[in-house]
Amino acid sequence: MITANKDIKAVDLVREALEKAKEFEEYHCFISMNEARALEHAREIDERIARGENVGRLAGVPYALKDNYLSHEGETTAAARMLDDFPSPITATAVAKLEAEGAIMIGRANLDAYAHGSSTENSYFGVTHNAHDMERVAGGSSGGSAAAVALGIVQFALGSDTGGSIRQPASYNGVYGIKPTFGTVSRYGVVAMASSTDTMGCFTNNADDMNLIMSIMSGKDAKDSTTLDDFWQEKLEDGKQAEKKKIGLISDFLGDGVDPEVAKNVRDYAKKLEKAGYAVEEVSMPILKYGLAIYYVVQPAEVASNLSRYDGIRYGHRAAKFDDLDGLYANTRNEGFMPENKRRIMIGNFVLSSGFFDAYYLKAQKARTLLINAYNEVFEKYDALLCPVAPAPAFKIGEKVNDPLAMYMEDAMSVPPSMAGLPAISVPAGKTKAGLPVGAQLIGQRQSDQMLLSIAKSVEEQA
Ligand code: GLN
Repeated sequence: MITANKDIKAVDLVREALEKAKEFEEYHCFISMNEARALEHAREIDERIARGENVGRLAGVPYALKDNYLSHEGETTAAARMLDDFPSPITATAVAKLEAEGAIMIGRANLDAYAHGSSTENSYFGVTHNAHDMERVAGGSSGGSAAAVALGIVQFALGSDTGGSIRQPASYNGVYGIKPTFGTVSRYGVVAMASSTDTMGCFTNNADDMNLIMSIMSGKDAKDSTTLDDFWQEKLEDGKQAEKKKIGLISDFLGDGVDPEVAKNVRDYAKKLEKAGYAVEEVSMPILKYGLAIYYVVQPAEVASNLSRYDGIRYGHRAAKFDDLDGLYANTRNEGFMPENKRRIMIGNFVLSSGFFDAYYLKAQKARTLLINAYNEVFEKYDALLCPVAPAPAFKIGEKVNDPLAMYMEDAMSVPPSMAGLPAISVPAGKTKAGLPVGAQLIGQRQSDQMLLSIAKSVEEQA
């Protein structure tokens, strides 16, 4: 459990985390380390404890920060050359809230550039390796954060999840990951990907730690108008009280195209839920098969719009060679973005262009509404839904990097709840024969995030 323990010196905690980060350097969890500042903060906290001052619930607890969060400490790159050498002018609300409780950021975790991807292979700074198998990907886009928790470098790490970027790497590395209800945590100060579905969450080793971190980060923020009034209670209802809930096991995601070992582990997780007192029943939601298509129209449209601000004029990278203003834009964007970023900008502008807008963007938005309606209907009968996080365990580095469609297919099970703004968590659900972790995904109605955590906790209690 994460607790601010006054008997252990913050300096020792931070040193230990930094040493572990060095020990596991070859996994490439981090883009940059925050060593000097982290130790300085730790010393300050130890001094304040010595003076008997109140130091907060996370005093001295080291954490890793996905490198698309802005902070005065270090530089935010979003793993793209476009933001290389970019000192953040502001600090993200989520980061400020953690700092106010005494948490200490030890380094900036690797990601797919601009959070576009499912493997962290799209990072300008190189790939992150899976904590359980060096030859495999850590997942993405928050691969560095997930691996850092799985390797035991830190007890928690921040991520962002637009269509699975926390849940999928959590499942690939065997840790907990949460994509909260849209609007739970302020997005202020986080590099925008797709604004109608960007959510901020974290990775931990258990449900209670996740609850603690989320209770600190969540809440209304005047700087993000989509934030909800704080609905997060400090304490997690214990698993037993959460009994007698009905859970729908999504049958559409257990058959064709799903690795049999993944299906088996998720079914085993369902059995554990039954043992904990829940009623589990198979449910079919045929509309879910359209989730991926909806996401890969809506999301690139929003990406194209959000990334238009990177023009080489105001901040970030600027091409050294250009003939005129258009050339400056073109060369800057060509040099600054990774191939996957460019692909999304092109798809996005295409689906938004006049003549195609109705056929693609508008149609996708209409289908999105149908998807939301289907969830609403199913939640009249079930308190939560269960399915895999991804169709297969972590794949080999390089296996899908030249096949964008195969890479997008990885997201088939994680994007539907994102399109509906629903909370979803990834919980460790066992391993394959080869020792690769498999994650189970629990999905609930809006603002039922803590209920999902209590369900996970009741399974944890069986261990
Ligand atoms: N893997 C998904 C994508 O590539 C999700 C990314 C994310 O959640 N940031 O779009």
